[in-house]
Amino acid sequence: MYKKLAWEKYLDDLSPVYDFCEDYKAFISECKTERLVVKEAVQLLVEHGFKDASTVTKLKAGDKLYFVNKNKNIAAYIIGKKPLVEGVRILGAHIDSPRLDFKERPILERDGFVYGNTHYYGGIKKYQWVTIPLAIHGVVCLKDGTTIDVNIGEDEKDPVIGISDLLPHLARQQMQKPAGNIIEGEDLDVSLGSLPLKEGDHKVKGYLLKLLKDKYGFEEEDLISSEIEITPAGKARDYGLDGSMILGYGHDDRSCAYTSLRALLDVQPTEYTSCCVLVDKEEVGSIGATGAQSHFFENSLVKLLELSGSKDTHQDIITLFEHSHMLSSDVSAGFDPIYPSVSDRDNSALLGYGLTFNKYVGAGGKSSSNDANPEYYAWIRKIMDENNVNWQSAEIGKVDAGGGGTIAFILGNYNLDVIDAGIPVHSMHAPMEVVSKVDVYEAYLGYQAFLTK
Ligand code: MN
Ligand code: MN
Repeated sequence: MYKKLAWEKYLDDLSPVYDFCEDYKAFISECKTERLVVKEAVQLLVEHGFKDASTVTKLKAGDKLYFVNKNKNIAAYIIGKKPLVEGVRILGAHIDSPRLDFKERPILERDGFVYGNTHYYGGIKKYQWVTIPLAIHGVVCLKDGTTIDVNIGEDEKDPVIGISDLLPHLARQQMQKPAGNIIEGEDLDVSLGSLPLKEGDHKVKGYLLKLLKDKYGFEEEDLISSEIEITPAGKARDYGLDGSMILGYGHDDRSCAYTSLRALLDVQPTEYTSCCVLVDKEEVGSIGATGAQSHFFENSLVKLLELSGSKDTHQDIITLFEHSHMLSSDVSAGFDPIYPSVSDRDNSALLGYGLTFNKYVGAGGKSSSNDANPEYYAWIRKIMDENNVNWQSAEIGKVDAGGGGTIAFILGNYNLDVIDAGIPVHSMHAPMEVVSKVDVYEAYLGYQAFLTK
């Protein structure tokens, strides 16, 4: 099924694709942060009979369970008929997306306005984040141990926030700057309000802090221990007059996270143990306790070995990984006909042509790339073809044009077979990204075929 328009399969009946994508649109519209994804994932898992791993004392084939790590990282499993040491089928995606984060002391008043000072997260073109409606999602953690959820700007009755840009009339100097400096990182200050208190030194800031205190119950100082993420406001929408695509925030990588999770939820009991792991922090290097480099994932597998009566988890985890297969479910750079010069078209992912395998990504001579083993790739091709999945091979852009990274190489370090497999995206890392609905659906089918093999 090499490079064939995936729509051809559905032209008599688009409903399987369009119906699935209604669920996906609702998911990305609701789940704009790692925490919100994990919360929703837990709800879906529980609805599908998965149990919190901490409540499980013994394992048998067909058991379903999940581990949550610090509310931002999750691993879910369906225990297969074969012993764990014979290997696990793993789908791994990341659930963080580029955005603006509040600084620790974000609130400042200037000339009648109160602003939220931010530090951007991940690789963004800063000029894309001004003059668009933005929303606030996150948590504020208090010293007494309580956590306050904050969510402003998604409900139609909510106000939105935003960042201003210069009027063209006065932008003569600004427009001479290189695009990376048109908007400076330190100028990504979000406008939060302009009403003053009746009295006080900083009346406008005072008004906003009072409003936050009254509505949410936290003080300015509490923002030091907060995780406030500024994202584009509003729901994902059908894109194109035929509704064949989806415009939305965070397709990278929630399109692959959702399809991976759904593949696990919907799969019939399998020979091998199936896994979907969703990680945080990919956009900043997969570091820390909740990123792909964390020991959390490995530890969850050690737990599974213990629960299934392993006498030597140290040896068994090594054997388990050696026999495991993984799809690193991450988006690929969709070939954009408006910008053909940066891509080698034959070796690019085309929107509408299905699940995309990136044998390698990386930049500057495959640097830092997982280069999938051809023996494994051949095995994958067979699964996809036998299951009538539309798939395509691709790399990210022309040699020396740039490049990208995923979590594939990190999991590869465990000595398991892994290849990048995901959905092609236009305008990646922009506030609003674009995917083709049929690629979302083919990814779901491909991930499920992989788990079933
Ligand atoms: Mn990604
Ligand atoms: Mn990315």
